Amino acid sequence: MLFCISKIRTYLFCPRKFILESKDEKVESTITQKINKSGFLKNVSISLEIYGLTLYAKNIDLKIDDNKITIISHRRGKKLYQYHYLEAAGYAFVVSSYTDKKIDVIFKSKYYTSQIPWKKHVDSFKNIIYDFLNKKVPKPILNPECKFCKYSLECTNELIKAKDLSLIRGIGKFRLKNLKEKGIEKLDDIIEMKEVVKEIFGEKSDKIIAQAKAFIYKKIILYNPVKKLKPGIFLDIESYKNFNFLFGVLYEDRYIPFLSLKREDEKTEFKKLISFLSNKKLPVYHYYNYEPIQINKLFKKYNLKKTNIEFVDLYKIYHNHIAIPTISYSLKSIAKYLGFNWRTNLNGNIVVHKFEDFLKTKDDKILDEILKYNEDDVNATKLLFNIVNKLSD
Ligand code: SF4
Repeated sequence: MLFCISKIRTYLFCPRKFILESKDEKVESTITQKINKSGFLKNVSISLEIYGLTLYAKNIDLKIDDNKITIISHRRGKKLYQYHYLEAAGYAFVVSSYTDKKIDVIFKSKYYTSQIPWKKHVDSFKNIIYDFLNKKVPKPILNPECKFCKYSLECTNELIKAKDLSLIRGIGKFRLKNLKEKGIEKLDDIIEMKEVVKEIFGEKSDKIIAQAKAFIYKKIILYNPVKKLKPGIFLDIESYKNFNFLFGVLYEDRYIPFLSLKREDEKTEFKKLISFLSNKKLPVYHYYNYEPIQINKLFKKYNLKKTNIEFVDLYKIYHNHIAIPTISYSLKSIAKYLGFNWRTNLNGNIVVHKFEDFLKTKDDKILDEILKYNEDDVNATKLLFNIVNKLSD
């Protein structure tokens, strides 16, 4: 059994994901004997066999002095959280088995450099390990990270099999208790006891019942009629620290990227985008509210005269009219359910780091990957548009 200390945050957030990922994790220990010689070891992995499992620390630097070893962990975040202290204790616990020297742990990001008082947290770290040793793969408990998780389909299917009420979006703890008190324990009870659902949810009951049906019958359900959508343009924006570096457009099945590689070029590309959208005089389809918000901000930022653009948020249409058997209504979850495959493994967060990497390295391969991801996003948006029009027939 393997416990990767570098993923302790995942364990605290979703033990199920941690355990499933551990099964695929491979140990690459670069240190196998006592650490004596002074020097600097960059990006090393180190493991310890204990309690019948392998404790594994990866991607750490070791600064080895005569009397002290400093473990350095490079981070991306702005601040430290509780799990960082447990992670630091885990690193020190493993490294201490290879040395008699004093150990310091430093967590470092662009925003902070912090020496962690790891000794205070060793007992808590060990408690987590004991907890892990006694754990079987737990049942899925939906959480905000599910939409980015590679096991989301597997978890959804498991919950569908159990007809679990947690699949229904927007129920809330209080109403869930209400439902259970009235004898509604499973998804099919929602369909069979419609009157009770109406009593509890009022106007929202159609949506709740449609969601239960969508999961049980594994199909898309239109529960609130929707008008056919006019042909239009599909837009998706990628940003990095208040810099909207890519306006990706899909027009008549042609992908057109308005791309700035320097902040100074953002205004020019934005003006080109606006002129393009204004000339076409077509509705602009996007998913969620990010695109119109950014466009409005850019009009203000560059003191430009606002033009009339008709934005249509497809998320709102899905949210208010359509029930889909997915745990999240993110673009990725719905499009994947509909059979769309992204060609990259990027997501909204990773793309920010990727662009940062591109700015540092100027590696065209990274840029190609970002463009592919953005092109896939607009194509996925178009797929969702097509489904709305199919349902509206
Ligand atoms: S989909 Fe959600 S519940 Fe399932 S493993 Fe991933 S994070 Fe955990």
